[in-house]
Amino acid sequence: MLENSSKTDLSSLGEFGLIDHLTKHFEIVNESSIKGVGDDAAVIEYSGKQTLVSTDMLVEGVHFDLSYVPLKHLGYKAVTVNLSDICAMNAMPKQITVSIAVSSRFPVEALEELYSGIQAACNNYKVDLVGGDTTTSLTGLIISVTAIGEALKEDITFRNGANDKDLICVTGDLGGAYMGLQLLEREKSVFKDNPNLQPDLEGNDYILERQLKPEARIDIPILLKALGVKPTSMIDVSDGLASELFHLCKQSDKGCQLFEEKIPIDPMTYDRARQFNLDPTLCALSGGEDYELLFTVPLADHEKIANHPDITIIGHMTPRSEGLNLITKNLVSAPLKAQGWDSFK
Ligand code: ADP
Ligand code: MG
Repeated sequence: MLENSSKTDLSSLGEFGLIDHLTKHFEIVNESSIKGVGDDAAVIEYSGKQTLVSTDMLVEGVHFDLSYVPLKHLGYKAVTVNLSDICAMNAMPKQITVSIAVSSRFPVEALEELYSGIQAACNNYKVDLVGGDTTTSLTGLIISVTAIGEALKEDITFRNGANDKDLICVTGDLGGAYMGLQLLEREKSVFKDNPNLQPDLEGNDYILERQLKPEARIDIPILLKALGVKPTSMIDVSDGLASELFHLCKQSDKGCQLFEEKIPIDPMTYDRARQFNLDPTLCALSGGEDYELLFTVPLADHEKIANHPDITIIGHMTPRSEGLNLITKNLVSAPLKAQGWDSFK
């Protein structure tokens, strides 16, 4: 999906020309970025803090489909999903590196669009692009982003600290990104069967945006600090609520009780799920890619978070022996299943 129709061959710039062309408009905004793009290594300095590092790789045909994902959105999302991992440690992302492997099928203009999305994310989240690598691939596009961030040692939150009776909280709402994907996949197959039909995506902005342009909850570590709350465990919702709860419970050696009625689902997500004959709760539990934050807090912090519009309390931790349970809307207790998305399936 190229908005700009001119096509400049990648080889016309050469590797160094291309790197310079793609990165020259990026500005460094963080004091901790001592040396960015242009030398053999970047230099970063976080005085008195700990450093967090996280990497994700996105492979064309496996993690994204360029027939309906615009390259600008892909660039933005590649950055977002990495920043989300740093936020999930209750830390603040400050730098990224971006590595790409690209086949000659892509013109310079395609990479310009990809980098315009990367730059939009850098500007939005105030992170600096400080390096990367550029190489050739035989067929598709591969993007690997590394996010680097900082936090005070005492603020860093792992997956393994949840205690019995801790409240389970989630930010925003869930299942929207999955419904956005269902819609895009449906329109793609309609188009395949009849290329004369235009995609019918009207009136679905929210779920499409949840899928194509997810945001990292960089606001949450700041909010929690302001509320005086240190989560006991935290993870970001990339594979679906159920799968993430399994991680928190396993690593904390606890069980949980999750209340179906409390799971935050946007009305549009709910309606579209119904139209697709899907259970909205299942979309939230197993859908993934919402990039909200799931965390636990001590019961004593209930007052501090109970009325915050961005945070929903959806259950509590239990002893491990009680297992992981979903209390349904009819008040029946059912064992939770981890149907999170498995990239090797
Ligand atoms: P080296 O040969 O030492 O690996 P490169 O020529 O690959 O160096 O990179 C030169 C500089 O450009 C380095 O600072 C590197 O981090 C940066 N860089 C290379 N590719 C990218 C990219 N795709 N995005 C951002 N920076 C990049
Ligand atoms: Mg290199």
